This record gives sequence, C-alpha cells and structure tokens, in this order.
Amino acid sequence: MARRFVTRFAPSPTGRLHRGHAYSALTAFEAARVAGGRFLLRLEDIDLTRRRPEFDADILADLAWLGLDWEEPVRRQSQHMADYHAALGTLRQRGLVYRCFRTRREIAAAIESAPHGAMEAWRGAPLPPSEEARRVAQGDPYAWRLALDAARRALGGFGALTFEEEGAGPDGQTGRIAVRSELGGDVVLARKDVGVAYHLAVTVDDALQGVTHVIRGQDLFEAAHVQRLLQALLGLPAPVYRHHRLIAGPDGRRYAKRDQAETLAEIRRRGVTPQALRRELGFD
Ligand code: GLU
Repeated sequence: MARRFVTRFAPSPTGRLHRGHAYSALTAFEAARVAGGRFLLRLEDIDLTRRRPEFDADILADLAWLGLDWEEPVRRQSQHMADYHAALGTLRQRGLVYRCFRTRREIAAAIESAPHGAMEAWRGAPLPPSEEARRVAQGDPYAWRLALDAARRALGGFGALTFEEEGAGPDGQTGRIAVRSELGGDVVLARKDVGVAYHLAVTVDDALQGVTHVIRGQDLFEAAHVQRLLQALLGLPAPVYRHHRLIAGPDGRRYAKRDQAETLAEIRRRGVTPQALRRELGFD
C-alpha cells in the first residue's frame, strides 16, 4: 500500500511572511488536500541570532488568515536539539564528520586564493588528532562538517544516489535526479554557535515527521542534493521533492525578506481579503 501523503511548510521565523511564503504554503496545503494527505507546519527556529520569537505567532496568524490549518503540535526545531545531536552522534561514530575550527573569514580567504579562483563549496580536512585535541582542550569553538570523502567511501561512491523530482529545479530539472555531492561540499552540519545547522535539522525532521513529499521553492533545489546524501548516510527514507517556481513581484523580481517585500500582515491591513490574495496567487 502506498504511504499516506504527508507534506509540510517550514518557515524560519526570522522575518514576517510575504507573498512568496503564501504561495509556497498554499502549494503544499493544496497538494495535501488533493492527495487526501496530511499537512504539517514546522518552525525552523534554530538560528538563535536571527530568530525573533514574536514572529512565531505572526506566522501562525498569517497562515490561519489565509485559510490554512495544520496538525498540532507545530514542530519547533529549537525544542528538538536532542534529535539533531543524536543524528550527529551517529555520523561521528561512523567517522563521517570532522571538527572545523576555521572562521568564516579564513574559509573565504582560502577559497579566494585557491588556484581555480571560483567560489565553490568548501572542502576541508580534519586536523591531525593531536592538534585537534589541543584546540578542543583550550576551548576553541568549532563547527562539525560533513567529511565528503569519507561519505563517498561509506556509500561506495555517489553514482547510485538519486532523488525524485516531481516539480522542477531552476533549470527545468525534473524526474530522477542524480545527486551532485559537490554542491554542498563539506557542508556544516552543526554550527559553532547553535550546535546544529539547516541541512541536518531538515533531514532529521522530514524523516521523524514522516514527510513523504517535500514541497518548497526552487531556491532550495540544490539543498535536495545535500539532504538526499544525508538521508543515505543516516539510513533515512527519501521523500519525493516538488520544487515550485518562485513568484515574482510587479518589478519581475522574486519576493524576498531582504527586499522588504510587502508582508501578509500589511496586505491584510490594506483590507485585501484572503480570497483575493489566494486568487491573485493562482489558487481557487
Ligand atoms: N526554513 C527554510 C526556509 O524558510 C525552508 C526549509 C525547507 O523547506 O526545506 O527557507
């Protein structure tokens, strides 16, 4: 029997929702409705420096105004650090991560001085054990990074690793997609400050929440390559992906928090009804 369809909307409460979020949330919600499946909401609130607790309530209010409902309890990532530490522990035991003491600035400088010159995902190397022990003992902060070479050995190569894309990537990629492991490089799985990072938290949560379909914007298409790799390393099921187009504003540019896009709260205050916004976004 086919698994029951489960999807989710997973905003980060680092700002207020705008039309782009509404489009994404409605796309996932409608897909669940059409499939007779479940719709979950997850607040990705692990970025302690950028998150603002007051946005949590605003997000829920905006989504309810749009006419969405979701299963309770809402999963808040900050309350599930033990789950992420357990996954990191598994990767550590298998020698698939290493401590990285470098600062962002050092990494940027190292990438710039590399012979190819181009910015690309960071590939580092663990420190020699004695040096590592010395730095840990002196209390230097470190991140945990994926050891891509060890991961390749553990999986016997990445050749067979694919994910199913039912939507499309930014260049129209669809269908069975071969994982490009180099896209994430030795990606950070646990940040120095927070103890976990985006890709690990999403991968663990999608599995724990039984998500069968990850529905989100095309800006996260490359993330699927990294997350599929982590699923394989952690022995987790692979969801199907449906990346959707990014909607653009009147100026042709996609909506983004950093451009001060009009928020749903502002749209609402202008007296726009949820029905009108849904229609504008192509729903109903
Ligand atoms: N929290 C992420 C964001 O707001 C989305 C993560 C995901 O859908 O995988 O961009």
